[in-house]
Amino acid sequence: MGERRPLIAGNWKMYKTCAEAVGAARRLAELTVGIQGVDVMIAPAFTALYPVAEAVRDTVLIVGAQDVFWEEQGAYTGEVSAAMLVSAGCRMVIIGHSERRQFFGESDDTVNRKTKAALTQGLMAVVCVGETEAQRDKGLTFEVLERQVAKGLADMAPNRADDLVVAYEPVWAIGTGKTATVDQAQEAHAFIRAQLGKCLGEALAKSIRILYGGSVKPDNIGQLMTMADVDGALVGGASLDPETFIRIVRF
Ligand code: PEP
Repeated sequence: MGERRPLIAGNWKMYKTCAEAVGAARRLAELTVGIQGVDVMIAPAFTALYPVAEAVRDTVLIVGAQDVFWEEQGAYTGEVSAAMLVSAGCRMVIIGHSERRQFFGESDDTVNRKTKAALTQGLMAVVCVGETEAQRDKGLTFEVLERQVAKGLADMAPNRADDLVVAYEPVWAIGTGKTATVDQAQEAHAFIRAQLGKCLGEALAKSIRILYGGSVKPDNIGQLMTMADVDGALVGGASLDPETFIRIVRF
């Protein structure tokens, strides 16, 4: 895996009140004391970002948001800017999650704008890509991934490889209990890395972390992490309970 430091990221989606999120974050902070060789991120809902960031200050945990808007400020009711996320204690942000593409009109163009805004403010961006089941069945997986990477990351100039993370999340594997086989994951990750090489240059592409997401659990993370181009995981359901999530973090 070269010098890419593994990243295990938990997407808490629309779960947990502020008190629940702070409680879970505190417990995870206890469980990760002294942990080395892996980065750990949790992404609570917007409302819980600040209290969670305060609760895990001076711990190894990285706090991330689940979305961001690309404008710096203005009359955009309901939106949150990258600078606001930074001010709440965020260091990372998930962009282009398939649930946002599916339910909230996220497109490769909005992914591109959001990612640029995040990088400009010094946030690390976790950009999600992945095909639907129908696209895989039609043999369109690589076409979809090529487009999502090329358009989503067009004209991007991250200063450091760490600033950009790509999450390969086959839509058919998210929240379904179906996981891609390790070979399917490796094949997609290697393809994505080749596409990153085309848009960002080979050197950067080699150092950018590519996470797998889609029903990752304590019992399948070990095998996934043996694959050459799998540098970590974006975990939904199994990240909600700290006792379960820590078993993934300690893969
Ligand atoms: C996700 O939300 O990014 C995800 C992969 O969910 P799950 O782990 O529940 O499939």
